[in-house]
Amino acid sequence: MGFLSGKRILISGIISKLSIAYGIAEAMYKQKAELAFTYQHIKSRNRIENFAKNFNSKIILPCDVSQDQDIKFLFFELSKYWPKFDGLVHSIGFAPNNQLSGDYVNTVSYEGFEITHKISSYSFVSMAKECRLMLNKNSALLTLSYLGSKRAIANYNVMGPAKASLEANVRYIANSMGPEGIRVNAISAGPVRTLAASGIKNFRKILEYYKKVTPIRRTITIEEIGNAAAFLCSDLASGITGQVVYVDGGFNIANMNEL
Ligand code: NAD
Repeated sequence: MGFLSGKRILISGIISKLSIAYGIAEAMYKQKAELAFTYQHIKSRNRIENFAKNFNSKIILPCDVSQDQDIKFLFFELSKYWPKFDGLVHSIGFAPNNQLSGDYVNTVSYEGFEITHKISSYSFVSMAKECRLMLNKNSALLTLSYLGSKRAIANYNVMGPAKASLEANVRYIANSMGPEGIRVNAISAGPVRTLAASGIKNFRKILEYYKKVTPIRRTITIEEIGNAAAFLCSDLASGITGQVVYVDGGFNIANMNEL
């Protein structure tokens, strides 16, 4: 028995074994959840299919969240396997590369702002809306955020406002779906080297700085994020909703440790 036994959870956002969503899938599988997966591009289908085999899953469905009809189609297709399910992990973020370096005000464009918010924030509520009637009581939705939502962090730029929007989204969705027994939370993760993170200028330097100053004096792992995600999507977390839970080694509570 695991603490996710009997739970069916849909995981979005795996693109490689380094993906945060991969760490989440590993932790949830260990706790005996039944898993299904989405992939963004047809070209990554085979790869995701192979990853899914590691979790004993044959449910792999396409979904580019920039396309509203893809989100509708995702849940229509999922309902053929799972008429009802118990959780959704939204581990998706995107900003055009030209938005992730340089001075924020000079760099930001309307198009960059719009697409970043659409994919990194709106898609979470859009997915929640489309799967609402398929969710069992005691289901949980989870998304991934970053401290750039609260602090102006060099080069994170428009992703910061998008993560702030995502965190507000978490609170509004939690309040809306709470009466149905559905909980909604975010994990604010410390920096992890993934494909998405490599788009941020000087990401290597961010990791080095982080190791020096974060209270635990090391970076965090996708296993650690995965364990927190598994807990938050389980009935062990039945009293927790609308929260942003930091899995960042304490970075957000400390200051001036470099002195
Ligand atoms: P990743 O590159 O492994 O995953 C990002 C995922 O987003 C990919 O699977 C990609 O396919 C998906 N995606 C992007 N645009 C999409 C679209 N239009 N439709 C469907 N999927 C789309 O990187 P990651 O670091 O694992 O990112 C996962 C989440 O974690 C993101 O929200 C990211 O902002 C957040 N996060 C990352 C870090 C970090 O340091 N890596 C820290 C805090 C939060």
